[in-house]
Amino acid sequence: MTKNICVIYTGGTIGMRAAGSGDESESLAPAAGFLSHQIENMSELKQSSAGEKIDFALIEYAPLLDSSDMTPKSWVKIATDIEKRYHEFDGFIVLHGTDTLAYTASALSFFVEGSRKPIVVTGSQLPFGVPRSDARNNIVSAFQVAAEMPPELAQVCVVFGSRILRGNRCTKVSAIAYDAFNSPRYPLLGTVGIDINYNENCEPLTPPAEMRVQTQSPDNETIAVVRIFPGFSHEIIRSLSTNPKLKGIVLEAYGTGNGPSGDAQFLSAITAARAKGIVIVVVAQPLEGIVQFDNYAVGSALRQAGAVSGKDMTTEAALAKLYYLISLGLGAKQIEERIRLPISGEMVD
Ligand code: ASP
Repeated sequence: MTKNICVIYTGGTIGMRAAGSGDESESLAPAAGFLSHQIENMSELKQSSAGEKIDFALIEYAPLLDSSDMTPKSWVKIATDIEKRYHEFDGFIVLHGTDTLAYTASALSFFVEGSRKPIVVTGSQLPFGVPRSDARNNIVSAFQVAAEMPPELAQVCVVFGSRILRGNRCTKVSAIAYDAFNSPRYPLLGTVGIDINYNENCEPLTPPAEMRVQTQSPDNETIAVVRIFPGFSHEIIRSLSTNPKLKGIVLEAYGTGNGPSGDAQFLSAITAARAKGIVIVVVAQPLEGIVQFDNYAVGSALRQAGAVSGKDMTTEAALAKLYYLISLGLGAKQIEERIRLPISGEMVD
């Protein structure tokens, strides 16, 4: 049997080349056509490790983006491109810059909800073709996973270095190591070594009967990510809340969801923001752990002020999920109800 794979190349270091002249001669920039040409000529991509023939089609975005320039509109474009070709292909690969890869992988798990085919997001730390680049290996591994991932595990995942990760659980943990991503709050879906091994203990997702793609991006609404720190001023929340476009705040709180709740002004700023229809989702600052408001009085106070627990969601997943729910045109109350429930394995039930 032949496996048909669709590669969507959006940009990133993986296909960049040293550009420019003068002072900036060393800086990397996207190079149209370069990576696509290399991939077309990689003989390792023609066959899966199980011996199945692989055929692929490659779509190169114009312009190619450094992923720092990605926006929610870019997520919708990728989701729409997958939807258009969903029935033609057995699996999808999204080639992407590493800087915002975890955001896009999280977003795709919501905007392309319930895919029964693997959607593999990858990139590289070093550009294709430079000595010791990880680009070639990551591309080959992504092809193998897109062609062979067991159907019960098929989902939006990140294949990078030696790890296969659930897309909406991963975060960028290194700007220097080849294993640039990890999912500290969720087990690996698999490992890439001499063999590719899948984690049989991972709970399969229960996707909706029909795959649903959200092709609308939030146009006028915006979200803020705010990290609490010692000396945090309630004025930060107050001044953000004066922006009529602000629909949500991802609040990175201490420990299991604690904030400076001895500061009555902080709590009233949260209550006032909530009264304006701004959804406040609390995520945990520690890399491991889960928001449990009632562990401490300071956490309960946050809940009483109107904040919602993001449980063990990453900041990236909480942000992408908020954008997704806003794009559905839901009001604050409905968004809060849906934030509490997993959509695509992004949090514990
Ligand atoms: N700035 C690059 C990007 O995110 C970094 C990378 O790809 O590693 O597009």
